[in-house]
Amino acid sequence: MSYQHQYSDGTPIHFPMGKVVCVGRNYAEHAKELNNPVPSEPLLFIKTGSCVVPLDGGFSITQAGGAVHYEAEIAVLIGKPLSRTPNAEEVLDAISGFAPALDLTLRDLQATLKEKGYPWEVAKSFDGACVLAPFVPGDAVEDLTDLGIRLSINGEVRQDGNSRDMLNPILPLIQHICGHFSLQAGDVILTGTPAGVGPLQAGDELELELVGHSRFASRAR
Ligand code: ZN
Repeated sequence: MSYQHQYSDGTPIHFPMGKVVCVGRNYAEHAKELNNPVPSEPLLFIKTGSCVVPLDGGFSITQAGGAVHYEAEIAVLIGKPLSRTPNAEEVLDAISGFAPALDLTLRDLQATLKEKGYPWEVAKSFDGACVLAPFVPGDAVEDLTDLGIRLSINGEVRQDGNSRDMLNPILPLIQHICGHFSLQAGDVILTGTPAGVGPLQAGDELELELVGHSRFASRAR
């Protein structure tokens, strides 16, 4: 299904879908559950814009080529170009919205690639690997250091995190990213996943929530 950025009231957001910049191991509890050391600086990787699908109406996990794990994450929509060394105010001004998202991962393939010291891209950027819900406007979130993300599967809470537990909080994370490469309107930042990741099965019913802001039901097919 083709993807178009939109607000949670249904209004389309007229930016092209850009790249998705992701950060690994941004919550200490999650790094621990996968037996990974906590990195000394943000561990960045990219998902292509073409792998993004909407959460609404369900999403496919059966064409990915292996066991797919969910990672619920706070997604940040960039609405203005950012590069080099923006200050915190400039970053804040460039944020157009927040949404809950799923960073889908071929965990076995990722483990094999990691073992060999290879890049993870094919385990992270297969078609359908980034599932995005509609965004609430950037100014709807008052405190970026107290923003909750929650995922329930078949009625059971599996992940329940808060941005206060991020090793790299949202604004400094985006500043760090800009030190490596420019961001454009339509790019999305996935800010890492809290503990509780696990496999998805076709037929799973999901509820994905940006706590206090938006909540969406979906289903894995
Ligand atoms: Zn992730």
